[in-house]
Amino acid sequence: MRTKIKYFRESIRLVWRSAPEWTMANIIISVLRSFLPLLLIWLIKELVDGITLAASSPSENNSFENILWLIISVAVFWFLDEAASGIDTFVRKKQSIKLESYMYGLLHSKAVRLDLINFERPEFFDSLSRASREAPWRPNSILNHLVALSRGLLSLVLMAGLLVFLHWSLALLLLLVNIPAIWLRLHYTDILYNFRRKQTPEARKAQYFNWLLTGNRPSREIKLFGLGNYFISLFKKSFLKTQEEELEIVKKRTLIELVSDIFKAAAVLITMLFIARQTITGDLTLGQMAMFLLAFRQGMIYIKDFLGSLSGLYEDSLFIGDVFEFLSLEENVRAIPPVKKIPVFSQKISVDNLSFSYPGSDTKVIDNISFEVKKGEILAVVGPNGAGKSTLVRLLCRLYDPLSGSVLYDGIDIRNFDPEEYRKMLSVVFQDFMLYNISAGENIRLGDVEKTDADRSIPKAASVTGINELISKLPKGYSTVIGTLFEDSRELSWGEWQKIALSRAIFREAPVLILDEPSSALDADTEYDIFKRFREIVKERTSILISHRFTNVSLADRIIVLEKGSVAETGTHKELMRRKGAYYSMYSKQSKRFEK
Ligand code: ATP
Repeated sequence: MRTKIKYFRESIRLVWRSAPEWTMANIIISVLRSFLPLLLIWLIKELVDGITLAASSPSENNSFENILWLIISVAVFWFLDEAASGIDTFVRKKQSIKLESYMYGLLHSKAVRLDLINFERPEFFDSLSRASREAPWRPNSILNHLVALSRGLLSLVLMAGLLVFLHWSLALLLLLVNIPAIWLRLHYTDILYNFRRKQTPEARKAQYFNWLLTGNRPSREIKLFGLGNYFISLFKKSFLKTQEEELEIVKKRTLIELVSDIFKAAAVLITMLFIARQTITGDLTLGQMAMFLLAFRQGMIYIKDFLGSLSGLYEDSLFIGDVFEFLSLEENVRAIPPVKKIPVFSQKISVDNLSFSYPGSDTKVIDNISFEVKKGEILAVVGPNGAGKSTLVRLLCRLYDPLSGSVLYDGIDIRNFDPEEYRKMLSVVFQDFMLYNISAGENIRLGDVEKTDADRSIPKAASVTGINELISKLPKGYSTVIGTLFEDSRELSWGEWQKIALSRAIFREAPVLILDEPSSALDADTEYDIFKRFREIVKERTSILISHRFTNVSLADRIIVLEKGSVAETGTHKELMRRKGAYYSMYSKQSKRFEK
């Protein structure tokens, strides 16, 4: 309960912070709207009594004037009630847009700050999916439900007060017949919440199949292998499984609610009989009769709203927990004391007894590795698939923290640096580099968005990889949007995208360059040209090159052979060839294929 109250408080704070003036407007209008119907009911009573009086004694000359004023007042307050409802809709919309954008901001900045290791865990995606579903609107729902609850309570007390005049037991009846409904709502809210939480993985599966069927990337294989119907049936299965089970719960709730509605109908019956009798016996005037009938009807509506807000609020308290659960995920990859300023890179990067395994697995993907790269050196890392090369790159970038051991930058553990500052020292082309569906120039500029001489440096970086020629010929040159997602864009080949990614890394003038399979899609000419000028291109930057192409690897100052997460061999190309070990064997197999 304490956690729920804490979440409520925090949600209200979020709503207020996102749009204080609109939140205030929302509250004021809501409160105003709770009084207007009451006022209308009282005016109608006055009006009916006025009309009755005028009908019984038509000779009184100012009676019609009184009625006229009452009619005008009813019309004015009716208009005000309608207008308040319209304004309320606008204010709520405006406030929810502001809140939505604020919440997306929180969600997105949390997602980019979070440790990369989270993205290796399915539970993280469950949590992210729940938070993304709830965050944009749930805090506002809490505020609206709270306002509606207090408004409903206020109106209810006033209505009940009015009914006490008629008979205290009627007011009590109004409250009592609704108690089973309160319990029912809360009970089923719990059931539905637990069900939806349990169903998150299945719902994500349905979303995934939906992406496979509608996404750009999967479309080719889906067509070629004729997988459409196969994935349509998988989607249907996942989708219907979650929806039908939920429908079953809602069905049960509706049936039980029908029973509770019978009690309410009985209460209406008793009250109507009572009011009719009192009017016939003359204990109530016609105006009072109209007022009590309206008050009872309005009271039932308020009770319904009140119950709706109560169960809504309870539901909010359950679901908002998912948002805060996500927002409070810990960020462990941060500067660890003693925090140090990053020195200008002058000596070496050392890897010291480094070990790492992925979450949920005991296998050490990196197993007690030690090596160093001196400033200006070109180090190549080779090894069979799954040897741990890409994992090593992520550890060097401090995208993951190791299980044990450390990476030292000029003798300082990289965990003592602010990770963002440390990563400024690195320029990386990942094996699965990103394709940004924005302009070609921007694609390269993303390497360093703070660089001031972009106009000059972008074409320069592009010419290093030879992509400048193609970009210049695009309809809008460097301003041409690339990819297929947006209008007026132009798709590139995979190799051309790789040249863009390589240009992006070159554009970023960081002292350390890490290239993970940077030429896997390049044509032979481009690859030859780039690697012939490799030293000139990297401009004495310390470079770590991962490649399965041994002709490229042989140019490195030193080579490390990784096998099953351990360093199997290390040395220059000549040394390793003389040793006739793993490197020699891999190199010979590849070159023999070419000789044949
Ligand atoms: P390749 O030459 O195929 O690119 P690699 O040497 O770069 O391979 P890594 O991608 O570093 O290899 O993977 C090393 C090992 O870690 C592999 O056995 C892989 O299956 C495993 N691995 C990678 N990612 C995860 C993960 N998220 N969870 C568990 N194991 C993983």
